[in-house]
Amino acid sequence: MHTLPKLPYEYNALEPHIDEETMKLHHTKHHQAYIDKLNAAISGTDLEGKDINEVLKDLNSVPEDIRAAVRNHGGGHSNHSMFWQIMAPNAGGEPSGAVADAIKETFGGFDKFKEEFTNAGMTRFGSGWAWLVIDNGKLAVMSTANQDTPISEGKVPILGLDTWEHSFYKKYGPNKPGYIEAWFNVVNWAKVNELFEKAK
Ligand code: MN
Repeated sequence: MHTLPKLPYEYNALEPHIDEETMKLHHTKHHQAYIDKLNAAISGTDLEGKDINEVLKDLNSVPEDIRAAVRNHGGGHSNHSMFWQIMAPNAGGEPSGAVADAIKETFGGFDKFKEEFTNAGMTRFGSGWAWLVIDNGKLAVMSTANQDTPISEGKVPILGLDTWEHSFYKKYGPNKPGYIEAWFNVVNWAKVNELFEKAK
């Protein structure tokens, strides 16, 4: 049975960039709903008790009658669990450490990476996510639709941005670029570095 992970900070900790009410609803309503629907879908199957990221790595092995539910709600659970971790108060700015070097090497600099990542978030039509992933040992920017995760494509996400309207509309309205720009002020690069080191 999957349960809602506790946030590693208070609901108002990411103010003014991400507002308290959005954080509260996003965590206790949206994320909880993915978990509830995932639990309902896998109840009584041998997927109960399995790590959700392991399940998402091989969606084809999930029974067909629950595959869409696992993809959507399991993806939602996995993506949001990571999302809370890669944000933090008193964070943002430019990365340091190994991931900073890799970003510079891959994209030509942090600003170029930021531009490419923002573009991935802006050009994904409808709801989805923008990602920084490790793909075949190299960094890459990509986006996914809905709650699809790069894990299902054999990639390792180390940074993810929720671009569903529920993640920003209350404060930013249709100003998605404003949300993405502000979100960079709360990116927990220490955690991204940790995920990067772990994935290598
Ligand atoms: Mn969300």
